[in-house]
Amino acid sequence: MKETKEFKTETKRLLDMMINSIYTHKEIFLRELISNASDAIDKRHYLSLTNSDIADNNYEILVEANKEERTITITDNGVGMTKAELEEHLGTIAKSGSKDFMEAVAKENSPEVDIIGQFGVGFYSAFMVAKRVDVLTKSVNDNNASLFSSEGLDSYSIEDASKDSYGSVIKLYLRENTEDINYDEYLDEYKIKALIKKYSDYVRYPIKTRITKYGENENENEPNTYLELETINSMLPIWKKNKSEVTEEELNSFYKTKFMDFQDPISSIHINVEGMLTYNALLFIPKKPFYDMYSDRTEKGLQLYTKGVFILDKCKELIPDYLRFVKGLVDSADLSLNISREMLQEDRAIKKIATNVEKKILSELSRILRNDRDKYIEFFNDYGLNLKFGLYENNGEKKDQLKDLVLLKSYNADKLITFAEYKEAMKEGQKEIYYAIGKTKEAVSKLPQMDLVKAREYDVLVLSDDVDEFMIQVLKDYEGINFKSINQGDLDLIDEEESKKIDELKEEKKSLLENVKNALPNVKDVVLSKRLVDSPCCLTADGDVSFEMERVLKAQHHDIKADRILELNPNHPVFTKLEATYNIDKELADKYTNILYTQALLQEGILPDDPQEFAKNLCDLLLK
Ligand code: ADP
Repeated sequence: MKETKEFKTETKRLLDMMINSIYTHKEIFLRELISNASDAIDKRHYLSLTNSDIADNNYEILVEANKEERTITITDNGVGMTKAELEEHLGTIAKSGSKDFMEAVAKENSPEVDIIGQFGVGFYSAFMVAKRVDVLTKSVNDNNASLFSSEGLDSYSIEDASKDSYGSVIKLYLRENTEDINYDEYLDEYKIKALIKKYSDYVRYPIKTRITKYGENENENEPNTYLELETINSMLPIWKKNKSEVTEEELNSFYKTKFMDFQDPISSIHINVEGMLTYNALLFIPKKPFYDMYSDRTEKGLQLYTKGVFILDKCKELIPDYLRFVKGLVDSADLSLNISREMLQEDRAIKKIATNVEKKILSELSRILRNDRDKYIEFFNDYGLNLKFGLYENNGEKKDQLKDLVLLKSYNADKLITFAEYKEAMKEGQKEIYYAIGKTKEAVSKLPQMDLVKAREYDVLVLSDDVDEFMIQVLKDYEGINFKSINQGDLDLIDEEESKKIDELKEEKKSLLENVKNALPNVKDVVLSKRLVDSPCCLTADGDVSFEMERVLKAQHHDIKADRILELNPNHPVFTKLEATYNIDKELADKYTNILYTQALLQEGILPDDPQEFAKNLCDLLLK
């Protein structure tokens, strides 16, 4: 008995979308049908564990193309479907995945949205390439076979049929070629193999092909059939193998082919997790950053597979921004093939995997740092900036995980060191971690503010990247020890007696300090310095904004200025000279003040507000 039924409205809409899908998406139909076949075999295998009558010990999926009929047939020996199941599963959109998909499409308001290509859309995707689809199937739970047939428009029919073995045969009658689309290409042996390789390489059951060709024989009416079946897929992906069974060479060579790199990665991380959440992951740190690492247009992300089926090339939810240089893939059995982009963001399994992936990468980095310093330095030179940004981002949310992975230049050690190493090497009585801004140790060495720090032999971290100081601010302290900029705030480095002397002197020199301040409208205060030994003066910043931050912010078009404090060294002959000059010639003394201030600015790498005035003052002085 043949029954013809109308598809539900929802199904019709989905079908319509499939038929009108853009060209590049069409090829995924094969992936969808193969993964249905694989699921069906999984189910039969599972049932056979408790019912040996329905077991088969030769599970496989066969993909055949017939050039004359213009058909593609996908055959599996899985569970099959009863008539009621055919009706339920193929007659309506029963599953939630397709519904979510439909909603996502409705939101995007375009039938050509990308999600068609990226996510599973199931059985109906057959209509992307087929004008008619027949499903001949026999369920392990029913001895009667049925045939479902639809031309994908409004209706489908179901009738009784005969079939010897359990399982399903899905037959696609390809659409006629159009000017733009050559459906015949799906009959091509190489195309079919390539599609199987691309999307279904790691399906657990052998996927075999047999192509039927006509007309190439002497006897042109005889089909020239490939009798030999060829297994196309590799089945067991390297990441599903047990970690201990995979050699480093295998991982390296997999990485190089998969991610098209010619060098071995710095490190490969292989994760097998089983339990509440089951997944496998392979992660690689490329030896050199990919050329597009910093490009805004490059999407970060790991490849996503579910049960060996390729879903998505760049799943950004799987990796935090600061680890965007990591290449790799995740394969989880706990995700649906129909997962949509919106769902990915909310998916708890994805979130858990991402947290774990991040943790694994960081612990691998800390392992390299411990065991192979040279390798870590090589890594850090290329990717260190990413870690520093990671530490700074979101107000230091990740600082505890990242603080021991950061390296900075050290004034004393002459090489890159960690905060822990700095702490370890602190001198007795040293209370703070000192840092200075400068491209090199030499540049820092010349800063007047270094006088006393050098005298004490305290080490100073040399911050040379723009982000460094921001990172330090977010960190606040390292294991309870505060950070201290050598040119910000009080240094507290001189002994008490000396400090008291300067405090007393402050009263005595009040009018000089006022004179100097009045000559410098851009300076917040003028003080007697407690940090200078050999230099006449220096500039320090008051408050949270340093000169370096001012520079970085300016480059980003923020007009935020550090508060300038001019420090004078009362023990320097220039100080005496300045004081004497104010007593006899205020105008000349103001010029001296300006020259001193500009000199201090220049030492901080800041250009004077009025270079002409500076040049003129200097000339006047030369002529004295
Ligand atoms: P999905 O596979 O994501 O659930 P589909 O639209 O592809 O969605 O399929 C709907 C249902 O039809 C499946 O859940 C399955 O129960 C059934 N089905 C599809 N293909 C087969 C097959 N080859 N063998 C047995 N059942 C199948």
